[in-house]
Amino acid sequence: MDIRLTVYNTLTRTKEAFNPANPPFVGMYVCGPTVYGEAHLGHARPAITFDLVFRYLQHLGYRVRYVRNVTDVGHLENDADEGEDKIAKKARIEQTEPMEIAQRYTNSYRETMRMLNVLPPSIEPLASGHIPEQIEYVQRIFDAGFAYETNGSVYFDVETYSRRYPYGILSGRKTDELQGSNRQLDGQDEKRSPFDFALWKKAAPEHIMRWKSPWSDGFPGWHMECSAMGNKYLGETFDIHGGGMDLLFPHHEAEIAQAVAATGKQPVRYWLHNNMITINGQKMGKSLGNFITLTEFFTGNHPSLQQAYDPMVIRFFILQAHYRSTLDFTNEALQAAGKGLKRLLEGYQTLKSLKPNGKATFDAIELESLCHEAMSDDFNSSMAIAHLFDGLRYINQVKDGITTIDHDTLAKLQELYHTFLFTILGLAEPATDNKGVLDAVIQALIHIRNEARKNKDFATSDRLRDELAAAGIVLKDLKEGTVWVME
Ligand code: ZN
Repeated sequence: MDIRLTVYNTLTRTKEAFNPANPPFVGMYVCGPTVYGEAHLGHARPAITFDLVFRYLQHLGYRVRYVRNVTDVGHLENDADEGEDKIAKKARIEQTEPMEIAQRYTNSYRETMRMLNVLPPSIEPLASGHIPEQIEYVQRIFDAGFAYETNGSVYFDVETYSRRYPYGILSGRKTDELQGSNRQLDGQDEKRSPFDFALWKKAAPEHIMRWKSPWSDGFPGWHMECSAMGNKYLGETFDIHGGGMDLLFPHHEAEIAQAVAATGKQPVRYWLHNNMITINGQKMGKSLGNFITLTEFFTGNHPSLQQAYDPMVIRFFILQAHYRSTLDFTNEALQAAGKGLKRLLEGYQTLKSLKPNGKATFDAIELESLCHEAMSDDFNSSMAIAHLFDGLRYINQVKDGITTIDHDTLAKLQELYHTFLFTILGLAEPATDNKGVLDAVIQALIHIRNEARKNKDFATSDRLRDELAAAGIVLKDLKEGTVWVME
């Protein structure tokens, strides 16, 4: 199949043919979570979006090295260069060690992602595990003349940089606009200009997470970790950098400036950004009372939720929109997504049970091309899902005896739905189905055991019972027949 993948590059603001620098290898970096609280809906969209990208690129035969970092140090309150470290603040409130906070929420993030069927990245580096790399990177920028030191802290010099290179190329912001939009310097400030940003911060005496550096005992600026770790694992220039649109400025803009200052090269060939989510038309925020963690979605334990939502329904709902569209979470929309997902999965079960019964009246090859065209058009999962729904109509008509299907069409449809639903979209068959399969297998074994007993072949019947018991499945012979329980 001849598939030409196009992606929307935020840097050029155009859809471009995707040509990795060194095929079949693809380097992809995505900004991961700052681990100071439970994973919430805002974490789900970028994770699922770039999981889709990861899966589809692999489906096309690329060998993807997917790096998604964990921010466990250096991210200060309000995404600014002032105030407390987000993780240190949580540790102070809970009177514990900051790394204990980071570990707890890293574990919980990973578990939540597993429930959403998000594949683990190839490398998941911690910012705190890459302090020497970050210090070295700051030094390179310093040596190149794009940074200055004030009181032990090092800042990026945006003005000097913008005399040589365009600053703001990703976000489209200009430094004269930035000046107006930022607060004015008050004379006490360590920065020469309000749009400069920290590369290294000197730690206050009470600050726990601190490391030695040529400038001070301190910690790296938030933007530094992604530059240093992207460079370490993917090289000076790599193919894809992803993240939410909220990271476009200042975070990704700063990453570009840092990399160009240190290496003279653009760090990324294709910048991909997913759009934001809203809840009932509003931005999610603690102050609005609509801040919902993913665990609360899975349990329904939040006043805004009418019910619990299966992780697969959340995943399907996110994939039903194109990643560059906004997405509004409401109970009604999620319930509709749940029904849609159920119909698709039932359609797949129907496909597995159908038998060829005549001529095909449907072009499965055409449907396959449409699904691939959609995904290859900037990962348009929304359109691909719409095509899968179109195919359902035919599948259900065959089931109802209204029309017929031949062997090849049936085989093609089975393969197509399996590939798209499970491999590319990363949906899972409902857990109850797996239990159903397990039950069917054990019922078959119980049947064989009871036959053996009837034939007085106790060696076989005892062996079956003992081997099942060793696997944690205990058979109980009741008046009504044999039942099994898991111990
Ligand atoms: Zn980042």
